[in-house]
Amino acid sequence: MTRLPDGVMREAIIDLSAIEANVRHLRRLTESEVIAVVKADGYGHGAVRAAAAALAGGATRLGVADIGEALALRRGGIDAPVIAWLHAPGTSFDEAAAHGIELGISNGDQLLSAAAAASADRPVKVHLKLDTGLSRSGIAPAEQAMVFAEAARLERLGRVSVVGLFSHFSNTSKSEDLAQLARFHEGVTAAALVGLRPHVRHIAATAAAIDLPEARLGCVRVGIGIYGLSPFDDRSSAELGLRPAMTLRGAVASTRRVGPGTGVSYGFDYRADRETTLALVPLGYADGVPRQASGRGTVSIGGQTFTVAGRIAMDQFVVDVGDAAVSVGDEVTLFGDPTLGAPAADDWARAAGTINYEIVTRIGARVPRRQVTT
Ligand SMILES: *Cc1c(COP(=O)(O)O)cnc(C)c1O
Repeated sequence: MTRLPDGVMREAIIDLSAIEANVRHLRRLTESEVIAVVKADGYGHGAVRAAAAALAGGATRLGVADIGEALALRRGGIDAPVIAWLHAPGTSFDEAAAHGIELGISNGDQLLSAAAAASADRPVKVHLKLDTGLSRSGIAPAEQAMVFAEAARLERLGRVSVVGLFSHFSNTSKSEDLAQLARFHEGVTAAALVGLRPHVRHIAATAAAIDLPEARLGCVRVGIGIYGLSPFDDRSSAELGLRPAMTLRGAVASTRRVGPGTGVSYGFDYRADRETTLALVPLGYADGVPRQASGRGTVSIGGQTFTVAGRIAMDQFVVDVGDAAVSVGDEVTLFGDPTLGAPAADDWARAAGTINYEIVTRIGARVPRRQVTT
């Protein structure tokens, strides 16, 4: 039986070699440049180290949501191109520009703020984001002509350099995504007509990078895939040639032999129906284990799979291990690489009625990340 090192109660092991291999695989598959998305602390994997692993695997640019995340990469010693695309109203881009952060621009105000952050000899690099149908951020269709014209004017003045055009799919259906792609191509043409010459165009995130070759455009912007998880309900990581990078595990904190009828955890949603052994797992919803998976999530102990008994609490939950030989300190794997026998993050996602993205991203700050290479 695998035991955790003494004193370790819970941890997330991050396999940096898997991130590197996943990027390499996606680069080969798509024959495209890879922008590795490391927002939200690298989907919970640790942004700086995930970024370094992605760059080692051949990514040429990094993507984050906001400037704070981009600056954290710079502080962590990452000097590769970084693009940030979600900004608070009235944000000054001075610090971002000083650190060479590229800005995703969704409206005219942001464009003017970007231009205001230029230094005398250095324009600010921007990627104009087009709303092609997702109805979130991105330049609204009605404003596109105005923003393009303004961008061309600011580029002639040396205040901005439009290095990219991009957009994001809804993943509703192939036909909806193709309609968005067609609108994007119209935008690319309109940009060229006012003299903009962006050298990168990117619209495909992981799902489209894999499934919609016509959307690759020589540059894909991938997040979940680099962490080895599948964006599809009906295809596993292994079926996509990806290796999950995160393993979440804990050490059995206590075991207790109980009689039939014994209630377990708040509300006694679970009662033992026989004499059995209960094992206490020291991870709870504060650590990102979704409470919605109470009574449904599964863990692996010593190669056997057990289901959560009763409610998941803030710091802990219980599994009924029957007569299995489980003892204090034994390793409990919540999820990891299913080809190695662990449950998948997808299993927890299904148990909680959510997606694997949310499972890994919400792993709490109380869980130490331990980066390994394999
Ligand atoms: C998060 C995000 C991505 C990455 O999406 P995945 O499905 O994780 O590959 C790409 N582009 C934008 C704009 C995003 O917000």
